[in-house]
Amino acid sequence: MIKIQNYINGSFVDSVTTQTFNNTNPATGKTYSSIPDSNSEDVELAYKAAQGTFLGWKSLSINERSQYLLKIASEIQNQLNELALAETIDNGKPLWLAKKVDIPRAAANFHFYGTGILHWDAKAHFMEGEAVNYTTHNPIGVAGCISPWNLPLYLFTWKIAPALATGNTVVAKPSEVTPMTAYLLSKICDKVGLPKGVLNIVHGYGNKVGSAIVSHTKIPVISFTGGTSTGAEIARIAAPMFKKLSLELGGKNPNIIFSDCNFEQALKTTVSSSFANQGQICLCGSRVFIQEDIYEKFKNALIEKTNKLVVGDPEENGVTTGAMVSEQHMKKVLSYIELAKQEGGNVLVGGKQKKLEGRCAEGYFIEPTIIEGLTQDCRTNQEEIFGPVITIESFKTEEEVIEKANSTKYGLSATVWTEDVRKSHRVAHNLDAGIIWVNTWLLRDLRTPFGGVKNSGVGREGGFEAFQFFTEPKNICIKL
Ligand code: NAD
Repeated sequence: MIKIQNYINGSFVDSVTTQTFNNTNPATGKTYSSIPDSNSEDVELAYKAAQGTFLGWKSLSINERSQYLLKIASEIQNQLNELALAETIDNGKPLWLAKKVDIPRAAANFHFYGTGILHWDAKAHFMEGEAVNYTTHNPIGVAGCISPWNLPLYLFTWKIAPALATGNTVVAKPSEVTPMTAYLLSKICDKVGLPKGVLNIVHGYGNKVGSAIVSHTKIPVISFTGGTSTGAEIARIAAPMFKKLSLELGGKNPNIIFSDCNFEQALKTTVSSSFANQGQICLCGSRVFIQEDIYEKFKNALIEKTNKLVVGDPEENGVTTGAMVSEQHMKKVLSYIELAKQEGGNVLVGGKQKKLEGRCAEGYFIEPTIIEGLTQDCRTNQEEIFGPVITIESFKTEEEVIEKANSTKYGLSATVWTEDVRKSHRVAHNLDAGIIWVNTWLLRDLRTPFGGVKNSGVGREGGFEAFQFFTEPKNICIKL
């Protein structure tokens, strides 16, 4: 049994309560580690450590701060295999995926922001003969970073790295469902000699640790990724304190396939964009719209390819689809499949829990599921399911599909498949989403703004947007 500990002021400590709760491997259903059940007192200790070191950290040269981030990046890369296995055990995702995407991206986050900060410049505005204005970008103080379970180390580091690069110190909380790689990150920070108190990681439940960070009167900036209802609660608490907020929330993303698409590419990528990471990526396309002239052909090919996905032990080679992150989440997703049937949906593929044998007999697996026959106004098509479940529907015209695609309260991402370049621009411009992919999916350039519109969030991460978020501009006007 591994004992996860908080990382506060450079030390590994239990919660002040000394209480813990269990952490489960979702592929086996077995408890394998314990998590500190921390509360507001632990957050206070973390805050004090972060505040105590803020002046020292922000006074370092950007080159010195950059060096620390780059050391963390290379140590993550050095520990690729161990971290990937830890992520797989904690989350249920296939090991190859953790090795290919999650852990390299966590290293890339530190590398990107560790080098990006060296290139971030400030503006000056001259008033001819009268004055010069120059604008500095100052770190805000202690930043609160709260992340979800679907891409654990990937999203945790995506917040922490720009906060640290810009000279803030951090109190961070990973998801209580997947805390292991955050714990291993604290070991890495210790190993590379990050000054104590610069990054503090407090483990525990959202309604204790997360809410203590959000309601802390002296933590002025909160970066949160998670569900829309949690985001609304955070905004409710933080707004009267005028905190700076970045909220990266849920999605119900459309995937639009026009009949003039490259059929094979659209098909292959649609299987990934529907079911990768068991459909537990906020950017997965859960509503698939197929133009009527290719509807039957595309549907049948999609069914055939989906039937070939291999649901199994995430540590085994050849497995495409691992475990759902928890029993509770598996049950939630299965309840949505039942709801879809009640709403008149016809399950074309999957639709059930997948029972495995051997080591994973008690694990939480769901068959990749395709549902047909639902209109856009039903709950199945309006609410985020966040699992390996898609609905498919045919459409006739561009106008019709845009209206349908935009019909939810969400607006995170959208995917469009067409070989007509004019149409691709037209449709992309008319879709309500922060990120549009044309003839690709999940292709990320870390310099680009990342975030959603409508109930998918407030603010943008990525590139210099994150530096803007974690700093306050100050204009200084000097009379000549
Ligand atoms: P969640 O909202 O339940 O939890 C996210 C984090 O917030 C966890 O660390 C949790 O402990 C904490 N938390 C819970 N209640 C809190 C509170 N009252 N105050 C402060 N913190 C609290 O989300 P989840 O189930 O972990 O993640 C899945 C959701 O995340 C999905 O909706 C998904 O779309 C979304 N997501 C969005 C993005 C994006 O970039 N937009 C990326 C990944 C996941």
